[in-house]
Amino acid sequence: MDKITYGRQTISQDDIDEVVKALKSASITQGEYVPAFEKALQEYTGAKYAVAVSSGTAALHTAYAALGLNKNHEIITCPNTFAATSNAALYLNAKVKFTDINIENFLIDEEKIEEKINENTKIITPIHYAGLPCSMEKIYDLAQKYNIKIVEDACHAVGSVYKGSITGSCKYSDAAVFSFHPVKHITTAEGGAVLTNNEEVYKKCLLYRSHGMEKVNFKNIPDSPTYHEMQLLGYNYRMTDIQAALGLSQIKKVESFVKRRIEIADIYYDAFKDNNKIIMQKKYNDRINSHHLFSVLFENNSLRDKVYYYLKENNIFTQIHYMPVNKHPYYQALGYDYKDTPLSYEFYRRELSLPVYPLLTNEELYYVIDKINTVLKAL
Ligand SMILES: *Cc1c(COP(=O)(O)O)cnc(C)c1O
Repeated sequence: MDKITYGRQTISQDDIDEVVKALKSASITQGEYVPAFEKALQEYTGAKYAVAVSSGTAALHTAYAALGLNKNHEIITCPNTFAATSNAALYLNAKVKFTDINIENFLIDEEKIEEKINENTKIITPIHYAGLPCSMEKIYDLAQKYNIKIVEDACHAVGSVYKGSITGSCKYSDAAVFSFHPVKHITTAEGGAVLTNNEEVYKKCLLYRSHGMEKVNFKNIPDSPTYHEMQLLGYNYRMTDIQAALGLSQIKKVESFVKRRIEIADIYYDAFKDNNKIIMQKKYNDRINSHHLFSVLFENNSLRDKVYYYLKENNIFTQIHYMPVNKHPYYQALGYDYKDTPLSYEFYRRELSLPVYPLLTNEELYYVIDKINTVLKAL
């Protein structure tokens, strides 16, 4: 049996052919592939605008900047996420208010958001952890009530659906952010995107992606025929055409990738449904979880660790998502405290992310399930 990991990319010959084609084209960056990939992202999500950037982290930074986040502001998010969600706010010198999670669905507890809101709150960033959409209607109502923006960290949630709306449509947000890292649903090696329906946000994202510069097409161009103006302090967060060619080829297969992930999740749900040592993420009738992760909780920390090591001995490499962001030394030094969000810490001590990716075969999947059942029986 090959080494089984918690997640990995699916690359086939047609992806390779597209990348080679892009490499042989006139422009390997700022050419035709990036706009074509953006168009495909718009069509897939239904969002009016898509801006492809160099990573999911860059997408978060770009979205926050485009919404005007600055040092006078705060964002609200939960600690059960990859550090980039809040790091991108720190880049802009904003503060972070960490809200605890709901231990049944592993998502930000929408009932605890309102108490964190004050006059400096600018953005709420819900994370659709593992691929399960947050309670967006509730969060949207709060944002409307207090005039706050919403950026969905949808890095886990390509292809997930909430009340009939596909994630990335931005029906309940000002912007949504994807990552195309190899463990995510589709990959460009490194890459990300901002989706939005707001033209002003879109234009700002374009500026932040590329040094804040724009070409100005005046009739009487001052000084030089290639006149550029820098409007704001932007970055170089551009995606290359080589990456976009891979993305364009991958997005054609996104539905089959998501379908296989859900199939695998269904088999796990069925296999462990009567096992009281394993708690699985809550299911909702009004949502489709696209399962970037298959995340489970064990009864306690020592049981989780025993399962982790036993699986590792059997060539199955699981992961733990996530150490609460407010537990990282960097955040602790800034005065953030993981004890303020006890459920996120408890979650971290009991969580394990089991293998889920399109190329995982049923044989491998049942091998994983069998090993988990074996170790639990022995304990
Ligand atoms: C992957 C991920 C990111 C960052 O994406 P990169 O492309 O690795 O920069 C941000 N937030 C979450 C929740 C993620 O899973």
